[in-house]
Amino acid sequence: MKYRTILLFGAPGAGKGTQGKIMGTIPNFFHCACGDVFRSLKADSPIGRVFLEYSSRGQLVPDATTIDLWHEFIDGSTKAGRFRPEQDTLVLDGIPRSVAQAEILQDTLEVVAIFYLRCTNEKALVQRLQRRALKENRLDDANLEVIQERQATYERETEPVLGFYEKKIEHRINADQSPHKVLFDLLKHIVKS
Ligand code: ADP
Repeated sequence: MKYRTILLFGAPGAGKGTQGKIMGTIPNFFHCACGDVFRSLKADSPIGRVFLEYSSRGQLVPDATTIDLWHEFIDGSTKAGRFRPEQDTLVLDGIPRSVAQAEILQDTLEVVAIFYLRCTNEKALVQRLQRRALKENRLDDANLEVIQERQATYERETEPVLGFYEKKIEHRINADQSPHKVLFDLLKHIVKS
């Protein structure tokens, strides 16, 4: 069976994680942030090392490794009863992050909506990441050069993912607003769907 899925889309710092975490607390929604799955790995495990190697440079982890790890996480969550595919909507944040990943996941996901969080103020985006670096001890947020490389990777590899899906399921959300207003806009669309 395909998983009924909502994609949270947007540049690093746009607020996908903040909104995804809230949505994941609503019954029948299951939030999965791919970056969190990577960060839960031990730094000295084989995939943990690969993750650190790429993320510390602001680059994407290779697609095959990412998809394998993601499947492992989803299967584990299903077995543990945290994710119930028959009744839950999957809220994905940070995956698919390349067109190749979207293609690989085509037979796995039934994407019913894409929420594209758009932030026009690039300075604000960078500030959010730098604040998060301190709060969450994230190495990839601490360094301005790495942040810039992540934004460039996003534009080059992730933005084209939007072209993979039908335009009619894409909803643009103004992510310059405060988090509760962004949430309100997201929920308005969810209620309608
Ligand atoms: P952000 O959205 O702020 O860049 P994430 O926590 O989503 O942060 O991701 C952190 C890092 O984890 C990325 O820069 C990348 O190296 C790696 N990563 C996360 N998701 C993926 C993915 N789907 N494919 C490849 N690499 C990923």
